[in-house]
Amino acid sequence: MKTVYLDNNATTQLAPEVIEAMMPYLSDFFGNPSSMHSFGGQVAAKVREAREQCAALIGCSPDEIIFTSCGTESDNAAIRSALTVQPEKRHIVTSRVEHPAVRALCADLATRGYRVTELPVDASGHLDMDQYRESLTPDTAVVSLMWANNETGVIFPVEKAAELARERGILFHTDAVQAVGKIPIDLRANAIDMLSISGHKLHAPKGIGILYVRKGTRFSPFLIGGHQEKGRRGGTENTPGIIALGKACELAAQHMEDENTRVKQLRDHLESELLRLIPNSRVNGDAVARLPNTSNISFEFVEGESILLMLNEYGICASSGSACTSGSLQPSHVLRAMGVPFTMAHGSIRFSLSIYNTREEIDFVIEKLPPIIETLRRLSPYWTAGDQVCTAQ
Ligand code: PLP
Repeated sequence: MKTVYLDNNATTQLAPEVIEAMMPYLSDFFGNPSSMHSFGGQVAAKVREAREQCAALIGCSPDEIIFTSCGTESDNAAIRSALTVQPEKRHIVTSRVEHPAVRALCADLATRGYRVTELPVDASGHLDMDQYRESLTPDTAVVSLMWANNETGVIFPVEKAAELARERGILFHTDAVQAVGKIPIDLRANAIDMLSISGHKLHAPKGIGILYVRKGTRFSPFLIGGHQEKGRRGGTENTPGIIALGKACELAAQHMEDENTRVKQLRDHLESELLRLIPNSRVNGDAVARLPNTSNISFEFVEGESILLMLNEYGICASSGSACTSGSLQPSHVLRAMGVPFTMAHGSIRFSLSIYNTREEIDFVIEKLPPIIETLRRLSPYWTAGDQVCTAQ
């Protein structure tokens, strides 16, 4: 059975060019880039090239790039550094819809005496910028707001938010794990101090990430050890991962146009057809300020997990907006924060596309999903045919 992979916000397939670029560094060229000999030196040269490729994608200087193990490490390193270099400040501003890499860290910091403001979002997933402005205080050490939401794709105005933070002398971090490679980013043109990237979200392997730290930003390393990454992150470099990520960043720049035209059209086609064919369905998240590849759709009166299982029978991979907590299905914190009604939140499915998806794949989903929802609704105690009102927005 062919796999139709529409779960690219969870992880992505390796680009063939990325595999080709990294393979020699898993086999023949295994030297340590810190070694004095030229066998290691040739790897160091390739790492330098990769750093330049990564920097080019986000418009920064190569020495502002710190290679890490993943997006989670980058988020932790950024926030903990901001707190360490400003021990007198005890306040963090973030949002209710962050990934657990930020949210769970902030919750942990809250138990250790830090004050955390979690900004709410409205029904379309947006922040109230006046409320944001008011949350910034002389005691605020750092703001951490995601660039784009992993569940809904909603894009926050992080560049504006960073400006407001800078005006008040507050460090600004953004988790750009879902944004990088999907929308243009130019760090020369904004006030963002730190930014997180994860390789496996942009067709590089798992186990490699980036923390961008703007030149001049005070920084305290998360991993203390050797002198790697100019003393900002100890540990022998994941050289195949770094070289792979360099290639992936180069490719992402080349594919940005395709992502924002063809992939977006495929996403829009999927979305509009599903809303047309399935009553009582709606899209969660702003229609415009949204990643081009992401669609989070709720199908009322059915459970997301059941939909996923039935899609799986056809080789279709997606994600649901609820997670099994203590044996019961809980709608995700993102959908709860947006006030998505309970009966809708339970039946939410996230489709996340990539440049490797085709029109045939999307049409296959459009063919298979409506009868799945119909079957599940027939089994649902809450569904009566008379309820059918299409609430698409
Ligand atoms: N931040 C966001 C928005 C994510 O979507 C993810 C992964 O899903 C992460 C952080 C964590 O990245 P990693 O899996 O590389 O630790």
